[in-house]
Amino acid sequence: MIWKHPAAPMRLASFIVGLTLLAACASTAGSDAARQVKLEPDPAHICDFCERLNEPAEPFQIHGDTYYVGTAMISSVLIASDDGLVLVNGGMTQTASQIAANIEALGFSLADLRLIVNTHAHFDHAGGIAALARATGAKVAASTRGVEALKQGRPTEDDPQRGIEDNVFPAVPQARIAADGETLKVGDIAVTAHYTPAHTPGSAAWSWRSCEAGRCLDVVFADSFSTRSAPGFRFTGDDDYPGRLETFRSAVATVADLPCDVLLTPSPLSFGVKEKLAARAENPTVNPFIDSDACRAYAAKGEAGLDKRIAEETAEQ
Ligand SMILES: [Zn+2]
Repeated sequence: MIWKHPAAPMRLASFIVGLTLLAACASTAGSDAARQVKLEPDPAHICDFCERLNEPAEPFQIHGDTYYVGTAMISSVLIASDDGLVLVNGGMTQTASQIAANIEALGFSLADLRLIVNTHAHFDHAGGIAALARATGAKVAASTRGVEALKQGRPTEDDPQRGIEDNVFPAVPQARIAADGETLKVGDIAVTAHYTPAHTPGSAAWSWRSCEAGRCLDVVFADSFSTRSAPGFRFTGDDDYPGRLETFRSAVATVADLPCDVLLTPSPLSFGVKEKLAARAENPTVNPFIDSDACRAYAAKGEAGLDKRIAEETAEQ
């Protein structure tokens, strides 16, 4: 399908088939630059560590068309083209204005945001999506179970964190399903969904190609493999979700096997943003974000975390 940008009625766009393709319309980013959009953030999420999570960070280029626009503790990534912008993850409700300001600080216009994709629907990565989509008319896409959570503004029944009362966020009723392996397009940006049910049943990694000075790399925004859960939740012996452990391991294998030169994750701590920026400041001729072993190492760490969790649950029995 070609998703039409509702705020740009002059654009030529048409519905074609299924949910196979998202294409930017015959567009001129320049005309949108003059169009102002007004972000009206939803009320701030309240939690003990929310202020820390929302600590501001300077936006920066990762490689080519790929930019970091999140906070010091929550990743959001922008992919830019002349025909529109794509955002991966929306932070907390109070992060939306920071993401918007970071996009503008990089010289892009928030008005050009066409698509928001989500790796998992928890308050700290999906909370800002509703306001950003409302302001810009951007489409929102996630996995099948991810869309279920986005539409209800809370994790699905089988989510390990479902029992955490305040893990709620503004619902995104217009969210659409991207099938496993489906590629969505905005201009020359093509982002592909890879279902990785682990941290949540709706978790997905998103991958795309990013080119800079003729060097094209595979970028993967993998989802969290954290086993953090509500009290009392068990990954082992879960009758409501009997294949949970096998599914988790298969998600880990999916990420390990993806073509991957640059790894990004929902937490900037998990891909070493601080250290990498320091290394790049020291030696700007080398981009430390490029690491073709990063996805495999991240997956191995994820699996080790699951094994640790299983050992803990077994010891408790
Ligand atoms: Zn989460």
